[in-house]
Amino acid sequence: MIYNLIIAQYAQTGTHISGSNLMIYGIFIFFALLSWIIQRILKSKFKKYSEIAMPNGMTGKDVAEKMLRENGINDVKVQHIGGQLTDHYNPATKIVNLSDEVYLSNSIAAAAVAAHECGHAVQHATSYPFLNMRSKMVPSVSFASKWMQWILLAGIFTISSFPQLMIAGIVLFALTTLFSFVTLPVEINASRRAVTWLSNAGITNNSTYPMATDALRWAAYTYVVAALSSLATLVYYILIFLGGRGRN
Ligand SMILES: [Zn+2]
Repeated sequence: MIYNLIIAQYAQTGTHISGSNLMIYGIFIFFALLSWIIQRILKSKFKKYSEIAMPNGMTGKDVAEKMLRENGINDVKVQHIGGQLTDHYNPATKIVNLSDEVYLSNSIAAAAVAAHECGHAVQHATSYPFLNMRSKMVPSVSFASKWMQWILLAGIFTISSFPQLMIAGIVLFALTTLFSFVTLPVEINASRRAVTWLSNAGITNNSTYPMATDALRWAAYTYVVAALSSLATLVYYILIFLGGRGRN
């Protein structure tokens, strides 16, 4: 990504660095730094809450199965999956996949993650509109992610002779930006369902509830930063396009 941006910069201005270019670099450095800081805080929060056991001793698997059952969902399975941070709900197979650190752990972090993934299963069962929209976007977004960098790169060099190529690249990039914004309500809503259920079902108490909420809140911030950073990059490509065209 950064490589592309530097090439774009060079193609656009030669070696000259203007004030507005510095501002653009500043914005990218800001997002990179912000994302790094939030990841660090998220990791430390999860590490901390992974070491605090749930008073009732329930594992991630227990929490997930109970939450599905109490939401009237009987056709979704809870399975163990290898790796770290690999937890996810798969709507195609109707499986809540929980990682090593969640499935068998009875920590607060494990309960929060398990309930969050079941939040997605509840969204699926109740046809939550943003989840439907997100699922429909997946095939085109994976196509876009695969090709957009190459198309944008080629588009930057052919901007004066064949501007359509860069427009195509920008459209593909915009699709991935839209996808990151559609992801926001899906993730935030899943976490809200998770903490509400954890509290109502009496899984968390007055001391563990704020911890579960805190862990999931920081996870949500990472999605917010990713979406904003994608939007900034999109605007940047549009500015390059307008600048490149303006010089002809
Ligand atoms: Zn999620």
